[in-house]
Amino acid sequence: MKKINFFAGPSYIDVAIMNKAIELIANDTKLSLLEISHRSEPITNLFEETRHLVKEIMQLKQDKEVLFLHGGASLQFAMIPSNVNVNSTAGFLDTGVWTQKAIKEAKKIRKIEIIASGDKYEYNKIPKFQKLSLDHLAYIHLTSNNTIYGTQFHSFPKTKTPLVVDMSSDILSRQLDFNQFDLIFAGFQKNLGTAGGCLVIINKDIIDCDSKKTLSMLDYNIHISGKSMFNTPPVFSVLMCNLSLKWIKEQGGLEVVEQMNIAKAKLLYDEIDRNSLFECFVAKEDRSLMNICFEATNELIEKEFLSFSEQSNIVGIKGHKLKGGFRASLYNTMPIENVSLLVQCMQSFEKSKQ
Ligand code: PMP
Repeated sequence: MKKINFFAGPSYIDVAIMNKAIELIANDTKLSLLEISHRSEPITNLFEETRHLVKEIMQLKQDKEVLFLHGGASLQFAMIPSNVNVNSTAGFLDTGVWTQKAIKEAKKIRKIEIIASGDKYEYNKIPKFQKLSLDHLAYIHLTSNNTIYGTQFHSFPKTKTPLVVDMSSDILSRQLDFNQFDLIFAGFQKNLGTAGGCLVIINKDIIDCDSKKTLSMLDYNIHISGKSMFNTPPVFSVLMCNLSLKWIKEQGGLEVVEQMNIAKAKLLYDEIDRNSLFECFVAKEDRSLMNICFEATNELIEKEFLSFSEQSNIVGIKGHKLKGGFRASLYNTMPIENVSLLVQCMQSFEKSKQ
């Protein structure tokens, strides 16, 4: 029996998506999408359709550029500071490890400023940012969902300064005005399929790199004019992204998917808050719908529950090594039935201790 997978990414993939991908790449009668030129019609059509789906589902303005790039989300930590309003200071809202990794890269090539940091809350809370003066900054980089700590932005700074958002772990999980952001990026391996690729949505007018000095692979303008095919693109990753987008449409779009995600997260948070053996230290107003982080009331219980849950066929709930405790990742395609099984397992564990 297949294990119930709560890993943070790579993560659970819907069975129908997986089967459709196999059908499309392992065809005995015609050449597979993986063995033909990226200049051929089936591949250029796949990219066009995927770009169109992104724009449609996110209701993006027509002039937004949609790119499918290599290098996961991490390459964006280098590309963004090399491209966006390069002559002034880059601002960061520090909500934990993934923002800090972006800060580390940006610092190597330009001035940076940390606008606010959640370190005083051990990253269990999103720092306040509303009243800050941000006009002098080239852009503000933030991570909309903090995969390791289980926090999520439920509102965003209202500012004229361009907003750059790492949506790797909550892209397309809820309805948002996506046009308010000047650059969105998200590694594929959570809500968009498999690892390696990255979706980038950008307003062209924030790019001001000097193309004579910028390395070609790091230059957004080159990828825009090459329609994401400056070099051989990650076709399989884009195919999985395409199927994940179609899955969202089949559910009824982001409105429905958001309600599904709210229901799943509520089911688990309610149990954590009720169960005498578990607790969640993440501020209620900042709790993530995607990565639910919680702890056992003591270390012994923590170890016991890990092996207890494994006996119930559940995997992937051990928290990140920096945070400890537990983390259950409930990305878009994770069925609510799987969340119910985790909740039942927590209830049986509590009973076994009485
Ligand atoms: N940002 C966030 C919020 C992430 O969760 C991750 C991966 N877990 C990354 C960036 C890095 O992604 P990648 O491994 O694709 O570079």
